[in-house]
Amino acid sequence: MTLATCGAIIWEIKTELPNFYGIMAKNTNNNRIPVKWVRDKAKAAYEKQSTCYICGTSEDLELHHLASITLLLNGWADRKSYDISTDEGILAVRDEFIAEHHKEIYDDVYTFCNHHHVKLHGVYGKAPALNSADKQRRWIEIQKAKCEGGSESKKSPTLSSFSDFY
Ligand SMILES: [Zn+2]
Ligand SMILES: [Zn+2]
Repeated sequence: MTLATCGAIIWEIKTELPNFYGIMAKNTNNNRIPVKWVRDKAKAAYEKQSTCYICGTSEDLELHHLASITLLLNGWADRKSYDISTDEGILAVRDEFIAEHHKEIYDDVYTFCNHHHVKLHGVYGKAPALNSADKQRRWIEIQKAKCEGGSESKKSPTLSSFSDFY
């Protein structure tokens, strides 16, 4: 069985969960739900790292996309005149979207601790502009150098650090 097949199965189970809608209920952006589905399907195939790329901690790790999947998906659906505002709509085109954005979804990703992930989005916004990938990379390398140089203290590692990844 391939990873992609596993992902598809996991994703289908997740769509049955009603609280997906509850979480997104107060969000006025209709595309939040389809984006989440794309992420959840793709997530199964990620090469997750065990430490934050910037500071090296193994706690509270999260995945960051240099290209905002929300912006990518919305722009792509617009250009193709796809209606992704319904469950059926996103289901019909989800695999096509993932296939055409393999680099952005699977390769242009970083593993960060929650602290550095929040920090990056504090600088570049909740959905960083699609043309900011190079700037983000530079920012990331600067933060990493700061940590390695000791000017920003690393979180001290604890013994119970390998649990709760996703
Ligand atoms: Zn970190
Ligand atoms: Zn992020």
